[in-house]
Amino acid sequence: MQPVAVVRSPFREKFGIPRQSGLTAGISSEVVLLPPYDIAQTVQGLEGFSHLWLLFAFHANLDRGWRPTVRPPRLGGNRRVGVFASRSTHRPNPIGLSVVALHQVRLEAGVVLQVSGADLLDGTPILDIKPYIPFADAIPDARGGYVDAPPQQSPITYSEAAQAQLLEHRQRWPELPNVIAAALGYDPRPAYHQAEGRRYGVALYDLDVAWEQHGQQKVVVSITRLVG
Ligand code: SAM
Repeated sequence: MQPVAVVRSPFREKFGIPRQSGLTAGISSEVVLLPPYDIAQTVQGLEGFSHLWLLFAFHANLDRGWRPTVRPPRLGGNRRVGVFASRSTHRPNPIGLSVVALHQVRLEAGVVLQVSGADLLDGTPILDIKPYIPFADAIPDARGGYVDAPPQQSPITYSEAAQAQLLEHRQRWPELPNVIAAALGYDPRPAYHQAEGRRYGVALYDLDVAWEQHGQQKVVVSITRLVG
């Protein structure tokens, strides 16, 4: 299989990416079609659909292999379920799927799909794009197993310095507050790695967002340009 497109998203590392597409609603990404698929014919009729399925390769894990059971973060990281009972990124065939909202099909230079709601690392190769078909794909009374409700999103606070930096960087990245809220609010820390007061960093756009955990509070302490 050859990628048909590549994703441009605010998420520059796996740490901090919410663990499902429904948790990044309102966060914009682009799906940039690659040659020879970047022609108007391949997307003819797509603008009639509000949502898309993206099938993609977990390309940042390709060397990590898989195991028959995994420990989903939703179960606190200490209970195991089968790999096929999970949406783990470590799978025999490292293929993911996400539903995104389609806002615009841009044809000015190749083909770019303006989407929101992607839970994907910047640079993710897209293997296929399919329209979401509500009558077939939406199953309102489906059971969600051990993930039958969305995770809690905790509020984020900012130090005075970080608040000023947020205002500055927001001029270039208007969605930055939402992106930070999604990246931190669903608690990206692994269950075994949750020390009080510890400092963490997450790469969003061209920024390093540093934050500390104090009790239940996540406090952003600085937002600076990534080096290199
Ligand atoms: N919605 C997809 C699915 O169900 O197949 C992905 C779910 S997976 C649990 C979501 C996680 O995949 C994100 O939190 C991020 O850490 C990871 N991820 C996103 N893009 C990736 C990539 N290109 N390579 C490896 N991991 C990636």
